[in-house]
Amino acid sequence: MIQKGRTFTPGTENRTFWCHTCSLPLLSARCNNCGGSGEMVELSPPADIRLCSGAGRDLLKDLFGKSYGCSDFLDRRTILLNKIAGADRRDQVFINGRHVATLWFDVEKEAHRLDLESAGAALLTDRAKNNVVVCNPAALKGHFKGKWLDKSAILDQTGNPEESDCVLLKIGKFVGVGVVRKKGDGSTAIRVRDVTKEPFELSSKIPTIEDVIKANEPHLKRLEKTAVRELREAISHPRSQSELPVNVSFSGGKDSLAALSLCLKAKPDAEVLFIDTKLEFPETVEYVKNICTSEGLKLHVIEGEDKFFDQVESFGPPAKDYRWCCKTNKLGPLTAFVQKQYPKGCLTVEGRRIYESFSRSKIGAVESNPYVPGQITLCPIRNWKALEVVLYTMWKGLPQNPLYEKDYERIGCWLCPASLQSEFENTRSIHPELHFRWASYLRGWAKANELDSRYVDWGFWRWRRHPPKVVEIAKARGIALNPLPLKGKKTGLDVVRGRSPCGLKYSIEGSLAVPQNYPFSAVANALCMIGRVKYSEDLGVAMVESKEGNVTLFANGHFMVVAEKEDAEVLLRKVVETALRVQMCTGCKICEKRCRQRAIKVKDTIYIDEERCCRCGRCVKGCIAAAEAPMILGNKGRSSRPSAVKSSRSA
Ligand code: SF4
Ligand code: SF4
Ligand SMILES: [Zn+2]
Repeated sequence: MIQKGRTFTPGTENRTFWCHTCSLPLLSARCNNCGGSGEMVELSPPADIRLCSGAGRDLLKDLFGKSYGCSDFLDRRTILLNKIAGADRRDQVFINGRHVATLWFDVEKEAHRLDLESAGAALLTDRAKNNVVVCNPAALKGHFKGKWLDKSAILDQTGNPEESDCVLLKIGKFVGVGVVRKKGDGSTAIRVRDVTKEPFELSSKIPTIEDVIKANEPHLKRLEKTAVRELREAISHPRSQSELPVNVSFSGGKDSLAALSLCLKAKPDAEVLFIDTKLEFPETVEYVKNICTSEGLKLHVIEGEDKFFDQVESFGPPAKDYRWCCKTNKLGPLTAFVQKQYPKGCLTVEGRRIYESFSRSKIGAVESNPYVPGQITLCPIRNWKALEVVLYTMWKGLPQNPLYEKDYERIGCWLCPASLQSEFENTRSIHPELHFRWASYLRGWAKANELDSRYVDWGFWRWRRHPPKVVEIAKARGIALNPLPLKGKKTGLDVVRGRSPCGLKYSIEGSLAVPQNYPFSAVANALCMIGRVKYSEDLGVAMVESKEGNVTLFANGHFMVVAEKEDAEVLLRKVVETALRVQMCTGCKICEKRCRQRAIKVKDTIYIDEERCCRCGRCVKGCIAAAEAPMILGNKGRSSRPSAVKSSRSA
């Protein structure tokens, strides 16, 4: 297993508050409606709590209704969701400030599931009609938690729960949650997961969203004041910045909507930039245009090239950790636009937040974008939580992108690999034609790579290096996770270079085709001439850590180089030379003779002794196979502007 799980804790406050008097969420302890103090609600990190959408409520109603035969209690309630780590969607569901259930997407069953919590069991105790198990407390001596329920302990039961389903337990004065599990002997039984004696009374008050906003108005005002002051200071900075034109990057998502609103307060004549990647949801394109028209804003639609479906033939599907498309479809068009429209540079207000992902967990208030020359970015909401963002935009009376009401957590391209598999299922319902186009490509690609159809259906294509949870599922189901090498293809190289707008570092992603005369393990071995190698045969991936930066090379020829710009070019050259030397070695043994460490043995191809090799690079000189590298690398696309370049020649 290569990738270790990490707990993502970008913020310092894993909590929010709940006013029980007014029955609504608070962003800070004091309620502006009743003047009382809210109760603290502990959240699992990263604690980016948000409001549940209309479609999210419908989904919960459907799941509660099917599982427990009741769902009316959800009507018009303020429901909060807190996203936590998991193989796919996993949201803690909060009602009345209590964690009542966890909503998650089961990729294997391709369906949403609901895990009840003990507070949820207390909430349902007088409501549930299905999946209720009444137990005899006398038959369960001692602590209940973790106990298996023998048939003799069950007094009454409704429903026919299946393995891994939750049931509501009633055990004397206790209520709780049981889960149907397989026992060691292969039979199934209910195991007690948790119990509580604490009652759960739903408040009779059902506040409106206006009540929620009013209760939080002082907090929202504070947020706005700080952000606008920060923006004004940055915009009027005496050193050069004060002369620069100001614009705001508006993607159609809630975060950039808040950034737009703040920016206009600080600089009312700011222009709006929208990058149309040609992979946007139609709702997003329309929404952006409508907002700008209704607010009377100057909108620049930066048109990306409509070439994704040509480029994907070379690069393969983009992945969370292989986002070549961000460069070709976003950064490239943006860089060209900024250079032409703002030749002296510009200040761009963005809605990036630390809570969004690991790669955004460190964002400065003012940063210069080294890969869009002249662009300085300002991030006024970098520390805001999703709930703060949404309530702020509602307070300002700004309409939301309609996709949020359809249960999308984040808005991006419709085939973005960073989307959840549950969101792809959403797209299947609301835009079947878009879903079909991408699913058809993925199926063809999977077939050509001899990959199981579940690799597509379960969303495994969204990673190049799969997370432990996905590796676990794949292993249990016998699904291979590594695409085939590019057999029979010409020698060639496709690359995109630049800093990804979705990440922070400069990187080169690409696809290298070389003859496949030897197994990938031979290339993985030889990569030790570049740096320390971690090789996983199962996953068909070799990761190289060197002093210049990191390289990840896959058995199918896809690769990523992450380093400073100049170093990345050096690493790319070394990777190409190494792959060529292994696969096209003539057996001349020139390298063996040049190596002073006696680290090379040539037998058909090269084998490097990692312990001996000092990475001096002497062995590459005079190698006829490595001499092919400059012809493959060419000299194309070396400008700072991100670009997709292609070079090829017959092997
Ligand atoms: S110099 Fe190049 S071609 Fe000759 S043995 Fe070494 S790797 Fe092979
Ligand atoms: S010549 Fe240098 S880089 Fe090549 S194998 Fe020997 S020690 Fe390693
Ligand atoms: Zn209150």
